[in-house]
Amino acid sequence: MSELLTPTDRPPEHSDDDPVRVRRITTARQPTSAAALLPTVALIGNPNSGKSSLFNQLTGLRQKTGNFPGVTVDKKVGFCSLTDGLQAKVLDLPGTYSLYPKSLDERIVLDILANAQSPDYPNVAVVVADASNLKRNLLLFTELRDLNIPVVLALNMLDVAQQAGLMVHTEQLRRELSIPVVAINARNGEGLLRLKQAIQQVLSSGNQADSPYFDSHAYAPGLIDEIKEAFSLPNDYLALHYAHQYAKLSFLNVLQRKIIQDLCEKHRFENPVLQARETIARYEIIGRVVAQSVTLSDHDERESFSHRLDGILLHRVGGYAVFFGILFLIFQAVFAWASYPMDWIDAGIASLNAFIKDHLPESPLVDLLTDGLIAGMGGVVIFIPQIAVLFAFISVLEESGYMSRVVFMMDKLMRKFGLNGKSVVPLISGAACAVPAIMATRNIGSSKDRLITIFVTPLMSCSARSP
Ligand code: GDP
Ligand code: MG
Repeated sequence: MSELLTPTDRPPEHSDDDPVRVRRITTARQPTSAAALLPTVALIGNPNSGKSSLFNQLTGLRQKTGNFPGVTVDKKVGFCSLTDGLQAKVLDLPGTYSLYPKSLDERIVLDILANAQSPDYPNVAVVVADASNLKRNLLLFTELRDLNIPVVLALNMLDVAQQAGLMVHTEQLRRELSIPVVAINARNGEGLLRLKQAIQQVLSSGNQADSPYFDSHAYAPGLIDEIKEAFSLPNDYLALHYAHQYAKLSFLNVLQRKIIQDLCEKHRFENPVLQARETIARYEIIGRVVAQSVTLSDHDERESFSHRLDGILLHRVGGYAVFFGILFLIFQAVFAWASYPMDWIDAGIASLNAFIKDHLPESPLVDLLTDGLIAGMGGVVIFIPQIAVLFAFISVLEESGYMSRVVFMMDKLMRKFGLNGKSVVPLISGAACAVPAIMATRNIGSSKDRLITIFVTPLMSCSARSP
């Protein structure tokens, strides 16, 4: 039966010299372009842990970084030279909390990591973890580890952790997890060299886990063994994911899915029960690790500037006053201030048309050019000032961190309408103009919330529709 299936040619669990790279080069299905031969380094981590910032630092490519979960929906690829001049392909994967996907973004990650034949399958995974929220961030790390993917832990946001009064001991963490742990600052590029060295080291010598964080085999021995055999999988945890999520793994064909389904039925495999157990087991271990390596510092920065500012910005009355003040400002800018450049564009187009009409003979072709093409493009271009103004405001709110406060304040109210805290800005600016307002919804992380906001925004009566 196993000839029928495409066996994943993952390296055996205990081979010595960089098996994954050898596999990449020898796999027949790989495209033979130079890029395909480079080792792949995937940046993986929770949303907002700093993956895209690190990606920019490593690759030097420009790319948008924002404050919201899920900005990075597309796959982003770049290249980076490691310490000894070795080139590596760097992937910025969508933010994900665990290998049990809840969104399309997370599914992309599962699809790559569960498939050793994927051209994006990493030789090294750099888990970018937000040090200020280490527990939640380490869940994904333990899962990757159980898949036996070579990992480096990049500890980011240490400045944020410090502000929150947390001391994260990198050295202790390295001992607890027995993998390279590198403290970085993805924003300013601190620790980048050490990270590259760690990547290089793991690339050349790998890092196999001694024992899994979660022993999947103990929970469903028969099933795991049969799936491993049928698909020639080298790894128990991978087999467990096949059992759990065969329907979500796009690289499995109908026949393969049917085989897994039958095996699950045969062994009476109970998905939700096992998944809950797994999560609990993982958090137990993570809890111990974090207790060992994170301590509370007694510092007086707590009453720092940002804390005092939050006292105002999140105040029950004052917070809303500030928020509506800012909204008013945005509204005013989009509605009134942007009208000046819009008038200029309008006048410019009109005079261009007049100029052409004056200087060319009257003909249908000239009409097409002036009343058709130029007027038509003008109708689009005229929105640019509004869009630019709104986006400038939104970027400032995002980068300053104010947007997260807005979400915190508005989420409870907006949830009642099935909307998101972030829907407020598009909705309000929709009253000025729906075009930039709908574009502004891109900052909403959840695609469902984003769609609802997009559908609702045109119901705000915009300036053009009022008449
Ligand atoms: P991603 O969702 O994982 O791609 O995260 P991003 O790279 O988009 O980063 C989210 C936000 O965190 C951005 O505003 C970054 O500027 C910021 N950020 C990234 N690294 C650090 C860091 O080490 N310290 C601080 N304070 N902010 C950071
Ligand atoms: Mg990103």
